[in-house]
Amino acid sequence: MSSPPAKMEPMPVTVDHLTGLDDEQREAVLAARGPLCVLAGAGTGKTRTITHRIAHLVANGHVAAGQVLAVTFTSRAAGEMRSRLRAMDAQGTGTPVGSVQALTFHAAARRQLQYFWPRVVGDTGWQLLDTKFSVVAQAASRSRLQVSTDDVRDLAGEIEWAKASLISPEGYGAAVAKIQRDIPLDAEKVATVYAAYEKLKANRDGIALLDFDDLLLHTAGAIENDTAVAAEFRDRYRCFVVDEYQDVTPLQQRVLDAWLGNRDDLTVVGDANQTIYSFTGASPRYLLDFSRQFPDATVVRLERDYRSTPQVVSLANRVIAAARGRVAGSKLHLIGQREPGPSPTFHEHPDEVAEATAVARSIKRLVESGTAPAEIAVLYRINAQSEAYEEALTEAGIPFQVRGGEGFFSRQEIRQSLVALQRAAERSGGQERSDSGQDRGAEGSLPEIVRAVLEPLGLTAEPPAGTKARERWEALTALAELVDDEVAARPELEFPALMAELRMRADARHAPVVQGVTLASLHAAKGLEWDAVFLVGVADGTLPISHALAHGPDSEAVEEERRLLYVGITRARIHLELSWALARTPGGRQGRRPSRFLNGIAPQTQAEPSPSKPRRQKGATPRCRVCNAVLATAPSIMLRRCETCSVDVDDELLAQLKDWRLRVAKELKVPAYVVFTDNTLIAIAESLPADDAALVAIPGIGARKLEQFGPDVLDLVRSRQ
Ligand code: ATP
Ligand code: MG
Repeated sequence: MSSPPAKMEPMPVTVDHLTGLDDEQREAVLAARGPLCVLAGAGTGKTRTITHRIAHLVANGHVAAGQVLAVTFTSRAAGEMRSRLRAMDAQGTGTPVGSVQALTFHAAARRQLQYFWPRVVGDTGWQLLDTKFSVVAQAASRSRLQVSTDDVRDLAGEIEWAKASLISPEGYGAAVAKIQRDIPLDAEKVATVYAAYEKLKANRDGIALLDFDDLLLHTAGAIENDTAVAAEFRDRYRCFVVDEYQDVTPLQQRVLDAWLGNRDDLTVVGDANQTIYSFTGASPRYLLDFSRQFPDATVVRLERDYRSTPQVVSLANRVIAAARGRVAGSKLHLIGQREPGPSPTFHEHPDEVAEATAVARSIKRLVESGTAPAEIAVLYRINAQSEAYEEALTEAGIPFQVRGGEGFFSRQEIRQSLVALQRAAERSGGQERSDSGQDRGAEGSLPEIVRAVLEPLGLTAEPPAGTKARERWEALTALAELVDDEVAARPELEFPALMAELRMRADARHAPVVQGVTLASLHAAKGLEWDAVFLVGVADGTLPISHALAHGPDSEAVEEERRLLYVGITRARIHLELSWALARTPGGRQGRRPSRFLNGIAPQTQAEPSPSKPRRQKGATPRCRVCNAVLATAPSIMLRRCETCSVDVDDELLAQLKDWRLRVAKELKVPAYVVFTDNTLIAIAESLPADDAALVAIPGIGARKLEQFGPDVLDLVRSRQ
């Protein structure tokens, strides 16, 4: 069979770029030039594989280093790729690869636009708009809308989402209605501000203002509309690599398509189960549809996890096994490669203060036994959760840094609140002096006064709509509850003393820390790893977060929350503790329950029913599928035939099934028969089930095992056909 002209024969082996790779990684590195998709779970060596593939292509003369464009989504990830490529040069493994361009989509587009702009646009210059805020605020006021600072931020977020999703102001209303998107303001208002914003940017004193999304739009446009630009660009870059491809937005995909033209020299790497940025417009569908776009693509799956212990990997596998929907179809079963370590632990606490105190205590023990604080992280769902941990770690004398979020006491609304409270305290102090002997009865208790001061700053009775407004509300609620706690602990507390206490707390956290425990939201933790990870607040309503649950228990929003938990678990190398609290504050109503994602996984949680799975028909008398005799013994029922009746068995499949069972049993630390008995494996090898229904018809395979092992077994059976 001759290969298609665009592809070349598999490449000769260069030992240097293949050392330190496992078989599948090697297959990916060696795949013929052309479309390659690496579907890889967390910690399986995606970045390692990509850099080795680039080095291999360059060293074998398939492409010059300067003709490779490797793109990813964050500067941190792009920097990581560059430093790994440079490290290869430092090892002297042949042709230098340090000149490979490894950039974010935006940085790549910016460079290209700078080069092509004069030719495409002419004399009008352009300027990059670092932040949309002021132009969006101006657009809102031109649209005669009364909006708060938070509204402007939320409007900017919506405009970003729309542009990343290739949705115009005119199409916005219909698009959000179709997907029932949570939006901060009326769709019509958002669309009006969006249109006004675009108009304002187009010409500001003879200069075009471009936001980050415009960089991509104009780059795609320049290549799409100008054949000379396209020809020059395509001559310059011949080989494209994309990391974390599940995070690509429709806009970035359009740029990638423009770059490629009708060529197909593209390597993509991704893990659909780590899609946690859908709200910004990212979609895993391009990763999942890669083979449809490029029917002759090579697809390689990496399943060996080099980051985490088998215990951590096993928990990650179990959590993601329950996933539903399109993304779940791409589930990867990770196989832990590290030495065994401690089992992940689950802890239930009466309230959040107790939870934070216990976490600080565990961290202290780890530090005392030699784990560096910088190798420890506390991960939570929303930034407002950091306060309890900042406090507990401060009290325990453990250094920490807040990543992503700014740290509770540096938040703008908290700083504003402290100023407002200070004024109120001074006023009430003056009043107390002039009306000595009078108690505060007329104004209410200290917590009530504090709530009254915080109300105009955004502490409404119900949480507001809009991400920024909600974050602000959550922070203010946390501050009010902090005051409740203080007053509960010291009922004699006066307003000035309360303020002194709050100031002291704020000051204590401002000391800059370098090598501390990381406090981060799950979103900010993506791509990072630590020896020890504490996943906190793993309760229903927090993870999954309540506004995801509002979309329904089986919604895509809830599935994204499940993936967040999966991302969190896979950050841990060795130690992993999950915890939740039954109440928010001490003495509060203990109305919470552990996250539904831990059902049947954490001790004392209920197994999740799987109503959507096919069930075996009960009640039918089991009969031999060869001679139709009624079956009575257990082994014969298992085999679905008399033990003496013979059928064809695919011996090689049976051997493969046994190997697979051994691996899984080792990983789950259970005896092999707990996975499947010999008779069940024989029944599989004989009946060659093609789908879930056929698999579940085999005795010994119920809904649970179907969910846990079904995809693996069906893959094995399919691979034999
Ligand atoms: P993430 O999902 O977090 O982006 P990744 O898939 O990109 O992870 P890498 O960062 O490339 O994974 O690899 C994870 C770790 O495993 C790294 O420390 C890497 O050096 C190591 N590693 C990768 N492949 C191998 C291998 N074949 N043998 C030993 N270690 C490996
Ligand atoms: Mg990576």
